[in-house]
Amino acid sequence: MGRAADRDPVLDHFTDPGDDRAGDFEGEVERMQTALVTGANRGIGKAIASALLHAGLEVRVGARDLAEGEAVAAEIGAQAMALDLTDPQTFHDAITDVTVLVNNAGVLWDGGVFDDPGRFEETLQVSVNGPYALIRAALPAMTAAGYGRVVNVSSDWGSFTQGLGGGGAYAIGKAAMNALTVIADRDTPDFIKINSMCPGWVQTRMGGADATRSPEEAADTAVWLATLPGDGPSGGFFRDREPLSW
Ligand code: NDP
Repeated sequence: MGRAADRDPVLDHFTDPGDDRAGDFEGEVERMQTALVTGANRGIGKAIASALLHAGLEVRVGARDLAEGEAVAAEIGAQAMALDLTDPQTFHDAITDVTVLVNNAGVLWDGGVFDDPGRFEETLQVSVNGPYALIRAALPAMTAAGYGRVVNVSSDWGSFTQGLGGGGAYAIGKAAMNALTVIADRDTPDFIKINSMCPGWVQTRMGGADATRSPEEAADTAVWLATLPGDGPSGGFFRDREPLSW
């Protein structure tokens, strides 16, 4: 192990063989968990944040516009946090106590995949690079608690077996998010449950007024995954609490 200044806080928490905190999590599960929901200033994220509060968790409303986040936080009784997934500096040091992470934020751009490299990059940043950075930043807190839940709000448009629908960048971003779910589950301890989910077609700014379900209905599976018991599934893809094919 190098000097303290050389240490990587994530790898230190994660790999130090002398650290047995990961083994004594039984008593920790009962404590209050702190949840962060990204893109929680509106839509499905707001419904998830509200439902997690009702489930008894402490909740942070992640929003790239802090004023919007604060308004929602005041409305539902949570805290707000400035968080722009395209700018890791806005969240890198701010989630050291988060043990429940809901990667909900998303952007839907349905142009041709080669039309606009900037939009492609933004989509990948929001759907996979940002969630990767957030999961990694939360690992020390999850490891210290011996408890972690990660919910990646994906889409059946990110499923190979269902045809990678929608705009090309969106489908690639959600397929990459699903791959991140599988690999992150493989590379983290069993007490951290990491799953993807599809909310269905939901009445939000993204889904439009004709969509068939409410944000509250969509939030149900997210909250179920965010509060799974220790013997719950991990590394899976779900809609309406039922498995989906990748
Ligand atoms: P909305 O468009 O209503 O909300 C998207 C949220 O993501 C907003 O809070 C938005 O913030 C936030 N966001 C976008 N870019 C960034 C960024 N760079 N940094 C931080 N936050 C950002 O969408 P929904 O509520 O419908 O979607 C939520 C999730 O569900 C998404 O991941 C979406 O792909 C997924 N989904 C939705 C479906 C639907 O039918 N609605 C279907 C399948 C999946 P801001 O307000 O600042 O723009």
